[in-house]
Amino acid sequence: MARRLRIRVDYHRCVGSSICVLTAPGVFALNDRGQSAVIDPAGDGVEKILEAAEGCPTLAITVEDEDSGERLFP
Ligand code: SF4
Repeated sequence: MARRLRIRVDYHRCVGSSICVLTAPGVFALNDRGQSAVIDPAGDGVEKILEAAEGCPTLAITVEDEDSGERLFP
């Protein structure tokens, strides 16, 4: 079974650089305020999602395992 993730974007940190959208377009999209929104937490694989979170210049993205609560990033 695929790992279920809880992905959050901190809107106080997100500067709309789109890096996460380019890295994991199945998960992230820019909203009408030009900030990242999670459109589907299962839209890309775990590796892509973590790559997107690691690539965020402001560390706005947090990723947790939905079932265990384990923090995967940061
Ligand atoms: S990479 Fe970070 S700052 Fe850029 S749009 Fe995504 S969440 Fe926002």
